[in-house]
Amino acid sequence: MPTIEHWIAGKPTALGSTRNAPVFNPATGQQSGEVLLASKADVDDAVAAAREAFVGWSQASLTARTKVLFAFRELVNSHLGELAEHITAEHGKVLSDARGEVQRGLEVVEFACGIPQLLKGDYSDQASAGVDVFSFREPLGVVAGITPFNFPVMVPMWMHPIAIACGNTFVLKPSERDPSGSQLIARLWQEAGLPDGVFNVVNGDVEAVDALLDHPDVAAVSFVGSTPIARYIHERASANGKRVQALGGAKNHAIVMPDADPSFAAEHLAAAAFGSAGERCMAISTAVAVGAAGDALLTEVVAQANAVRVGPGNAGTSDMGPVITAASRDRIVGLIQSGADQGGTLAVDGRGLVVPEHEDGFWVGPTVIDHVQPSMDVYTEEIFGPVLTVVRADTVAEAIALINSNPYGNGTAIFTSSGETARTFQRGVHVGMIGINVPIPVPMAYYSFGGWKDSLFGDKHVHGPEGVSFYTRAKVVTSRWPHVEMPSGASLQFPTMS
Ligand code: NAD
Repeated sequence: MPTIEHWIAGKPTALGSTRNAPVFNPATGQQSGEVLLASKADVDDAVAAAREAFVGWSQASLTARTKVLFAFRELVNSHLGELAEHITAEHGKVLSDARGEVQRGLEVVEFACGIPQLLKGDYSDQASAGVDVFSFREPLGVVAGITPFNFPVMVPMWMHPIAIACGNTFVLKPSERDPSGSQLIARLWQEAGLPDGVFNVVNGDVEAVDALLDHPDVAAVSFVGSTPIARYIHERASANGKRVQALGGAKNHAIVMPDADPSFAAEHLAAAAFGSAGERCMAISTAVAVGAAGDALLTEVVAQANAVRVGPGNAGTSDMGPVITAASRDRIVGLIQSGADQGGTLAVDGRGLVVPEHEDGFWVGPTVIDHVQPSMDVYTEEIFGPVLTVVRADTVAEAIALINSNPYGNGTAIFTSSGETARTFQRGVHVGMIGINVPIPVPMAYYSFGGWKDSLFGDKHVHGPEGVSFYTRAKVVTSRWPHVEMPSGASLQFPTMS
């Protein structure tokens, strides 16, 4: 049974870890390995390595940093298949989806390759007589990333390429459910020429997380995961004086207008609801059918859901894999039952799905629940499984009001052929990421990613310009080089410019 260790100061190590957790292959339901769980003392070692490495890396020239980033980009690209296999083996998503995840992570590395341009400061010549003012940004120090199971390579890559490009050193605490990809990423950073100690991985659970949140040498924390933990991370790390961005859960709605093409909308809704078994923070979990759109949409969505081929992620014939754990499957199955009990119509029921030769895998088939009301558990809970709920609304105003009354505000979409309706929607919804006939509007790496309300705690979104801002702090220099003919200008009054 392979043991997944930590990666500290350039090598895999068990440190002093005595606890571990099982890692499963969700398609077989069998344990495939065990991952070490770091203690507070182990986290202290990781942070100490990162702190030592910061002395040199924070002084590395932009040219030196960029060279490493370009080399890392090439290495991730050439190991894309291997990374995808790690993801599929431990997460369960199909290989093509896993490759897409790595590709979207790579786009952040490519953005970070432009760090010399991104870190350019401002300069005001002769702000006062003989005085120039200029600004630049410096790294923070040791920064930590705590990440969820659902994108084990991409979500950490929203963070570490930019943090490292800005001159910080990084400690990653990946999800203990699918930790292997992070080990390969650490090796690729090293091969790219990154000095040891700049990128470190500590595996663990709440003990490791708390140690990072409380460590005086951790300057900033980036978190992505569920809302209750995001809120906790934000409160505890903020109380300890750290800069924090904590991205939480989601309940993403897609409005379908009567003027939308129902086949186009249904095809995209099914892809957005059932892709990666619904385990995406940008998955569409609620379709809001407006007026006459409902019945035609439902017929098409049911056909789409029934056509999804469910099976192991490494089989080329599968469109959708298993969910992450047996506990997750049981929770989703319980929520589907509650949907039926509370008055919803089970138009497609994915419970009890059996995949031949993989009977012990963690399966839930695509499920569609119609006539859902906002009071029902399937509406109020983040299901994080392959379940699409359908709510009926009379007008677009009612649909927008429904979205705005939801505590989450991660992503949303509208299907319509009216520019006017689309514009009303994009201006009216209280949501961070919006799609117009695009169901999963994940921003490109050169924009920033983040939701509103209970989907994000903190001021800064991840990657893009806000990522650079999060991982740096500004200095403004006011400078004068006096010479003999210059009046000194010294005065006891508050300095004013002339
Ligand atoms: P999770 O909150 O259970 O875990 C996230 C991280 O927090 C993991 O590293 C985990 O080890 C750690 N953790 C878990 N419990 C903890 C505790 N009590 N104290 C301290 N740390 C703890 O999330 P998950 O199940 O791994 O991922 C799914 C969730 O992540 C969903 O809610 C999904 O919407 C969300 N997510 C959000 C985004 C986004 O961009 N907003 C992106 C991906 C996933």
